[in-house]
Amino acid sequence: MIIDTHAHFYFPEILDNIDEIIDNAANAGVDKIIIPAVDLRTCDVILELTSKYEMLYAALGFHPGDIKEINESEFHKLETLLKENKVVGIGETGLDYYWDKTYIEKQKEFFRIHLELAVKHGLPVIIHTRDSVADSIEITDGYRGKVRAQFHCFSGTEDELEKIISCEAFFVSFCGNITYKKFAGLGLVEKTPVEKMLSETDSPFLAPMPHRGKKNQPAYVVDTIKKISKVKNIEETKLIAQLRKNAEIVFPGIF
Ligand SMILES: [Zn+2]
Repeated sequence: MIIDTHAHFYFPEILDNIDEIIDNAANAGVDKIIIPAVDLRTCDVILELTSKYEMLYAALGFHPGDIKEINESEFHKLETLLKENKVVGIGETGLDYYWDKTYIEKQKEFFRIHLELAVKHGLPVIIHTRDSVADSIEITDGYRGKVRAQFHCFSGTEDELEKIISCEAFFVSFCGNITYKKFAGLGLVEKTPVEKMLSETDSPFLAPMPHRGKKNQPAYVVDTIKKISKVKNIEETKLIAQLRKNAEIVFPGIF
């Protein structure tokens, strides 16, 4: 069975069709889905969903793209929520230099607070690194051997990839854009050992071919896995088993 480690289920396009989307996922062989939060409001929505749907699990945190208006005092509330049922990770955190560079120092500070919480609570972190891989590596360097981490929707240089996967507890994952004709990062997929990969969709974004242009959903993770199996020249069933084994290491809370 397949795990989608990253799907943003609080968007209306998913919430309005959630039963159908969960059915589609189950029919595609997906049995567990992790939903990362972006702020306290989405933390609440997610906890409601995870209590209602068996296959859903929560990661709680403040997304770097959403923290401009978030006050540091909100971490107290976040920390109390970490004790709720089915919380299996912290995130999504990290750095985003693509949308707004005006509050980079705040992003770094918040990223460090998430990492500290991860150490304290023994939870893995889900890391967003859009246009910010080098700084993300610099910050996580201080946490090698202390936290488990997923560098989600990875895109960076091969050197950066090497640095990340040289840490035993750091993993990367690729989204549906690796199936696009013009995707420039296939070399990264080639260079990543399947033992260091996780499966994800980043729903509702980045739907893989042949669903490009539609809203992404966990069922489509199979198309990204198909592409990885081709690039890595590994049988799909073997790849799925390996990806599950990796998820057991990073997110033991879902098992
Ligand atoms: Zn995300």
